Amino acid sequence: MNLYDAVLTLAYPQICVICGSSVEQRRFGVACEACWKGTRIFADDEEICLKCGAPGPRCGRCEEMAFTVARAVGMYKGALRESVLMLKRQPFVPQHVQSLLLEASRREPLSSSTRVIPVPLHPKRLKTRGFNQASIVAEAVSKALKLPLDEVSLVRVSATEKYRAGLDRKGRRETVAGAFTVSHPRLVADENILLVDDVFTTGATVSSCAEALIDGGASDVFVLTIGRA
Ligand SMILES: [Zn+2]
Ligand SMILES: [Zn+2]
Repeated sequence: MNLYDAVLTLAYPQICVICGSSVEQRRFGVACEACWKGTRIFADDEEICLKCGAPGPRCGRCEEMAFTVARAVGMYKGALRESVLMLKRQPFVPQHVQSLLLEASRREPLSSSTRVIPVPLHPKRLKTRGFNQASIVAEAVSKALKLPLDEVSLVRVSATEKYRAGLDRKGRRETVAGAFTVSHPRLVADENILLVDDVFTTGATVSSCAEALIDGGASDVFVLTIGRA
């Protein structure tokens, strides 16, 4: 146990951010066991759109998205949502969330991933926040899967995201198009990329990343997020 772990252990039990009762175990992070039980986690046999992972049958809205498939641990609600919100403040993925991510990444076709890449933050935002929450998740996933973590190949080239608020789906897609590029094509060539982010919202950002990675020579891009909005 390192010092960081020790400090966090001392801080438990904590108050559940959802219901106010006690979180006895550190592995549950910010929510108690009961609130985790009440949070929808996608099962192995969950009916989802086989491409974008939306709950239900094939959604028909994701045809143009550049990734191979996208999967999430569950809906962006309850304990999953609170875990993501906490992750924006402190760079820590609770053990329970790590296990859920691992479970999702072991399903086909994500199980054939060869390299883990986080969705990059713009350097300016990275400077203000101090860390990229997608990198923290990607690091946990790469360790668990024993796959290389690649934080250099995919780079963000424009800061267009701040203009996205208020735009419709098409507008958002256009603003993030061309926002990413691959700086080290040699590293992604013929690889099956596991592209990691905290939340899948419209899919525009991960699709734009996937487009750059495929252009850079990657074989497949599998998206993995904690939540699905
Ligand atoms: Zn609770
Ligand atoms: Zn879909």
